[in-house]
Parts: sequence; C-alpha cells; structure tokens
Amino acid sequence: MSKQWVYRFNELDAAEEYVGGSWDRVRSLLGGKGANLAEMVRIGVPVPDGFIITTEACNEYLSLGERLPDGLWEQLTTSLKAMEASTGKTFGDPKNPLLLSCRSGAKFSMPGMMDTVLNIGMNDDTVKGLIAKTGDARVAYDLYRRLIQMFGSVVMHIPDDKFEEVITRTKREAGVKSDTELTGDHWMAVTEEFKNVFRFHTHHQFPTEPYAQLQMATEAVFMSWNGKRAIDYRNAAGIAHDLGTAVTIVAMIYGNLGDDSGTGVALTRSGTTGEKRIEGDYLTNAQGEDVVAGIRMTKDLSELKVEMPAVHAEFERVAMLLENHYRDMQDVEFTIEKGKLWMLQTRDGKRTSQAAVRIAVDMAEEGLITKEEALMRVTPDLIDFFFHPQFDSQAIKDAGLNNKLLAKGLNVSPGAAVGVVALDADLAHLWGKEEGKKVIMVRPETRPDDVHGMLASQGIVTSRGGRTSHAALVARQFGKPAVVGVDDMDIDLTRRQITVGSKIVKEGDYISVDGTTGEIFLGKIETKQPDIKDEWLIKLLSWADEFRTLGVWANSDYPVDAARAREYGAEGIGLCRTEHMFMQAERLPLVQQMILAEMEVQRTEAIKALLPFQREDFTGLFRVMNGLPVVIRLIDPPLHEFLPDHVSLTRELSDLKIQLQHAPHLEAIDDLLKQVRVKEKVLSRVEVLREDNPMLGLRGVRLGNHFPDLTRMQVRAIIEAACLVAKEGGDVRPEIMIPLTSHVNELKFQRELLETEAKKVMVEQGIKLNYKFGTMIEVPRAALTADQLAEYAEFFSFGTNDLTQTTYAISRDDAESGFLIEYMVHGILPENPFETIDHDGVGELMRIAVEKGRKTNPDIKLGICGEHGGEAKSIALCHKLGLNYVSCSPFRVPLARLAAARAAIEAGK
Ligand code: PEP
Ligand code: MG
Repeated sequence: MSKQWVYRFNELDAAEEYVGGSWDRVRSLLGGKGANLAEMVRIGVPVPDGFIITTEACNEYLSLGERLPDGLWEQLTTSLKAMEASTGKTFGDPKNPLLLSCRSGAKFSMPGMMDTVLNIGMNDDTVKGLIAKTGDARVAYDLYRRLIQMFGSVVMHIPDDKFEEVITRTKREAGVKSDTELTGDHWMAVTEEFKNVFRFHTHHQFPTEPYAQLQMATEAVFMSWNGKRAIDYRNAAGIAHDLGTAVTIVAMIYGNLGDDSGTGVALTRSGTTGEKRIEGDYLTNAQGEDVVAGIRMTKDLSELKVEMPAVHAEFERVAMLLENHYRDMQDVEFTIEKGKLWMLQTRDGKRTSQAAVRIAVDMAEEGLITKEEALMRVTPDLIDFFFHPQFDSQAIKDAGLNNKLLAKGLNVSPGAAVGVVALDADLAHLWGKEEGKKVIMVRPETRPDDVHGMLASQGIVTSRGGRTSHAALVARQFGKPAVVGVDDMDIDLTRRQITVGSKIVKEGDYISVDGTTGEIFLGKIETKQPDIKDEWLIKLLSWADEFRTLGVWANSDYPVDAARAREYGAEGIGLCRTEHMFMQAERLPLVQQMILAEMEVQRTEAIKALLPFQREDFTGLFRVMNGLPVVIRLIDPPLHEFLPDHVSLTRELSDLKIQLQHAPHLEAIDDLLKQVRVKEKVLSRVEVLREDNPMLGLRGVRLGNHFPDLTRMQVRAIIEAACLVAKEGGDVRPEIMIPLTSHVNELKFQRELLETEAKKVMVEQGIKLNYKFGTMIEVPRAALTADQLAEYAEFFSFGTNDLTQTTYAISRDDAESGFLIEYMVHGILPENPFETIDHDGVGELMRIAVEKGRKTNPDIKLGICGEHGGEAKSIALCHKLGLNYVSCSPFRVPLARLAAARAAIEAGK
C-alpha cells in the first residue's frame, strides 16, 4: 500500500498518529495553514470541507523529477468523493457544481510561494449550471473569469495586467467606474477574452476539465517551493529547504448568493483598546475581497445581529470557542452562504500596545492564561511604546477610507511620526534643527554622512533597502520611526518630489509615517500619547514585581526626575551624575573659576562657593527618595568640558586682536586689552588641560585624587544634606560612588579622604548617619581586580557605557555616527554593543567582577547604571549574572520591571 499523501480535515488524529503526536511535526506534515484548519474542524468550528496534500508528497514529487507519487491521485479522488458526499455537490457537475480553492501552505508562513487559485471547477458547463441554479449570470461569470485570471497569472505566470487591461477597457466601453456595475453579459464577454489572453500567452486552450485544473494547480504549488522567490526568502529567513509545502484544497463558499449571504472579518477583542468585545466589519451579498478592497462601505458587525440574528449568535459562539482554544485574541475571516456561517481563517490578531497589555491581563484574570504567560506575552518593547506617541486608530481608518494611504514598505522602527518631507540630510537638518520644523527625511537610501539629517528628523523613509539597511539600523538606534524599501515610491531629486502612482508629494508637504505598520499617509494624521496610568499596565507591572528578583532603580540627577522614577516604580536612585549640576548657568562660572585658579586658596574659595548649590540638590533628592537608596557619584568628566573649547577661544582671541588694531580711542583699547588678557588666561589653562585622549585622561577618580578639595566639598554637601533631611524626620540612605576606578589604591585614597570629611560633618551636625561607599566598574582592570576593590567597596555599579568603550577601545560618540553603523550593515558586529551588552566581552568581564567581588565580600551589592540597564536583553544578562539591581532612565523603569520579571520566568523554566 502506498503512503498516505492526503489527509481530510477530519483526519487530524491519523496525521498525529503518523508523526508521533508532536504538533510541531503535524505542522511539518500538513503545513501551518492545513494543520490549523484541521484543528478548527476538530474543536467544532464550522470550516468548509477540504483536505491537505502533505509536504512529503511535495518532496516526493520534486525528487521524482516533477511526477506525482504513486497513489496520490487515487487518494485525492477518494477524498474529493467524500467532500462531494458531505457538501451535496459534485466536482464538475453542471447542475450542482462543487468548486474548490487551492492554496500553498508550508510549515512557516512564507511569502514567495504560490498564491491562491479560487473557483477551480468552473467551465463552460458549470457556469451555465450555476446560472440556472442561482439565476445570477453576473455572479456566475464573475467566478469563471476570476478562475481564468488567477489560474493564468498564478499557475501559468501570465502578467496580471494583461487581464486587468481587459476589465479596464470593458468598463470604459460600458461607461462605468467600478467592477460591480458590470452586468452578466459584460462578464461573459470578459471571460471569453480572458480565454484568448490565456491562449495567446500559453499557446494552449484554457483547461476546462475540472480534474485537469486541479492537477495543474496542485503541481504548480509543488513547483513553487523551488521558485526563486521562495528560495531567496528561505535563505534570508533561515528556513530549511527540505521542508516542502503542503497543498490545501477547500470547498468554495460564496457570500454573494443573495441577502442571506455575506462575508466579513473580525477580531475577538478590540485590537485598539483590548476591550472584551467582538469588533468587525461585514458586507451582505459580497465576496471576500470586497471587504478589504474598500469599494463598498462595510457594516459594523453589530448590525448582523439585526440582519441575521441566528448567524450572529453562532458567530459569537464560534469566536469564543476559537479564543478559548487558542488562548489568545483571534483575527478571523468568515463567510455566510445562504444563512450558514463558515469560518475561513483564524490567527492571533494584531493589536496596539495598550490592547496587548489589557488582553494579557484580562485573560489571566479570566483564568485563560497564567500570570507568567501574561507577562511573557507582553514584550518589553510594547511597554516602551507606551511612552511614544501613536496614531489615533480612528484617524488611520479615516485616512485609509479617504484614499490618503500613499505607500507601504518595511516597518523597521516602530512609532508614529508626522512632518514635512525633506529630500536630503542637509535640508532635514536645517529645517529640523535650526528652524524647529517637524521633518520626515525621505531618501532613496541613507549613508553615514546623512546621520545629522536623520537625527534632526521625526521619522525616516527610504525607497530602497531592507531590515538591516543603514537607514533601518540608524533609525532603530536613535528610536526614530522608519519605513524602508518602499518600492512603489519614485523620488525625483531634481524636481524635488515623490511620486507614487498618481499621487505626488512635493518637498515641504506633510506626510505621516507609521513605523509600526510600514504605512505612509498623505498629510497630517493625529497622534495620541498613551497613558502610563493605564490600569491594566499598572496591574501587569505589579505582577512583574511579584516575579522579578532584580531590583529596578533609576538614573536621576534632579528631584523632579527622581519623583517621576518613583512614580514609575523605581526602588532607588542608582546613579546621580553630580557634574550635571555643575553645568547649570549660575554654577558654571564658579566651576570655571575653580579650574582656572592659579593659587590653591582661590581654588578652595571657588569650591566652597559651590557647596550650597550641591547641598540643595542633594537635599531635594533625599526628600523625594525618602526611605530608598540614593547613589551619588562624585564628579566624573574631564575638566575641559566645563571650559570653552580651544578652537572658538582662539578665534575669539584673534577677533579681539583685530579689533584692537582698529580701536578708536584709549578707553576702547583698555577695555579690549582687558578682554584679551582674560581670554589668554583661559586659553593658556585650556592648553594646559588639553589632552589627546580626554576620555582616557584626567577624569573620574583621578580628578578627585588630583583635587582632593573637590571630593571633600561633594562629600560635605552630601552628608550635610543627609543630616538636614534626617533632622526633618526623613529616612536617608546615601551611597557615595567613585567613578572610573582602575586601581585599588585610587579607591583607598578616596575612601580615607571621604570618611574623614563625612565624620567631621556628622560631628558638626551632631548626627550619626549610615552611608555606603562604593565604586563603578567601568574599565577592564577594575573588573579583573574586583577582589581587591571589594576590600574597600560596599557596592559595585557596572558603568557599561564606559566599560564597553574601554573594552572595545571604541569611542561611542564618534563610532555611532560613523563606522559602527557600517559594521552592523556588513554584519561585522551583529549588534550595537552600546545598546545591548556584548555578552562575550563586556559580559565576561562583568561575570569575573561579580565572582571576584563576592568572593572577597559576599554581601557586596551589585548593580548596573550604564544605559544597558534599561534594555531587555542586557537586563536578562544581569539577571543571569546575579546582580542585585539594574538602574536606568526613569522612562525605562516600567520596561525594566517587566524585562526583569521575564528574565526570572525564563530562567525558572
Ligand atoms: C557608564 O559609563 O556606564 C556610566 C554610567 O557613566 P557615564 O555614562 O556617566 O560615563
Ligand atoms: Mg562612565
């Protein structure tokens, strides 16, 4: 007996038995689509009858040199007979014809495979039978011509426009605008002309014998597995070439057989808000494509309740059945044929981030899924999305109906952006940065010297390129919504305009770009800011807190940011960069005075003058973070950052000297000379401080050791502020952190200095406070000697920004707008190490530091405060390494809470 090549939809058990039970292998055998249809039948969903020709049959067909395997055709005809019995229709019977659809269906959904052929079984006899049965020549010939058109283009590769030309001409001659206005006679004439088109291009008659149609369509599916597009796609997506495709044959159902028929699409819950309410559109007396084509106004599904109450009730039952079975919101397609509901397809529905959160939470509360599953269903990037504007869904719908959709491309960087079109980077920069306009940069593709324009834009569009193109990588890097590979878009850089079909957009016109869906619209579309106080998000994050073991802290320098971080759930401040406080307008002169001082007493004066400012800053932070730890890092950047830069100083000085030569009178000369002297003094100091590699120079702990008074002042400000808040009744938990340590002696020196000063302040204030002392781990030497550092540190915080720079010897600021993107485009680096921790290099140093640090001091607290602390994959690594907490920007705190929970769940599996 030959192998079973064909399975009817109700033979899922047999297929499972054959492959040994695993669902994955059932999908390999029957293809994703076929397996799903069979599963729907098993759970009692009304699915049109059909059968599946297996992927094994496809592989056998190809290995036999394109010959059907023995036994396949007999099995196929037996299955067809069974379908005829169940439907009461007969394949090829002129009086009561059974018509079929034929689809490809590999294990994974795969563009590039053969498209669907509908209405197989139509011919000159069955068309007449159908007219006699339905009394509707228009419908019957429309079905027939669709078969010839699909068969011609899909199976025989005739260009589709050859058929479309006939329809366009027929409409023109009939003086009508839409297809629906054509009569039965028109479609009959079109059908005849289609046969001619078919003969002209293939040199064969259109096959009118139903079984011949079925066989040719089936073989075309098999052959499409080895088509160039399919092979290219598999290579790109990493899908094995030996899987083969299944063929799914399904009885056709018609929604256009009168007012008791119809067709529609629905989501089992709202895809916009996530509300538990079926949402959908349908059309009475219509074909499937009519709903999506947008030619006729669709009706809201609620109207079906009035129009066909029994069908509506059945639909609600089936929707629940599907949702309960798949345990997720479903996106379904259905057709009603003469009062009977049929489901054609179901899949997990697309949803906004708010809907994703609400659906996950609701389903967990309904008991459909567990809390862990709810947490695993909401990816951290969706949470991130709560903080970005999104297009209003009604506005998008209206734009679609008003023909505002300009084009569609690859959705490479999510988010919504609205702005005027700028066709080159310089203009985007000028409009965006200098004139404050909202700009969308549109280019054929982008290159490294376009980055300044991209940064100044709200969003980016390119007509060429794929998911790893320069534009896509830069956009994702900087969080700019982007759509690339918009093939239909013709960018004319001479006439400064974009053309898509008949639509023209001039430079300076508004467009709206949806990086989430890849759609580009004409004009401005309203955006809205999602709500962080969303009750479902709050609940989901509270569940995340139950599962996570990592603490989530925030990097904040000012009380307002700290307050926001607390509101978002931060459990401490993991990094306060004190130098940011020095940059403020009224403080900068004091900082400059301190740096420029020639005598020690002048420097001490300037440093002292800074004390009240710093104290005030810290007081605010301690008040907001009452009861929670606050890590304050002593000054870090090189001093030249506080001084005017060398080039502009030199220019200003030479300007002054020119003015001096033309000074009109003595008073002016005196004044100018004074200015020259000041500038010269600053310049000479800048020259002294100038370093070839400032990032590797006098910065971090080296600065505190170079100017001990600076450390003393900062420590005094911290402890005085802490005493003040403690006296108010506050619970203060200061932690003082030293940056960029590389040798244990640096730490030792700082610690002695700091402890002496702290003690002094506490005696003055009459209070004894607890505070912690720790260091950042930002250079490889610190990681490798963590056992020594741990003798003097109660905590470590990984500064992975610098640790990545120092491990790779890459300057982040220079590289990210330069060669780093090139490295990613060419796949030299798989990911940007400044975005996701480099697991093998930086991650390994962290692992060593954790191990060595804990060996010396098992109670040492370990955290991370580099930007990676807010990135999901890096958070998972931190969990694995056993850190105590991650610290990130306040806006990323919710994301980090979720990512930490997911890491814990994943690790516990
Ligand atoms: C770091 O290097 O990771 C860090 C947090 O310090 P900064 O970014 O201030 O250099
Ligand atoms: Mg650093």
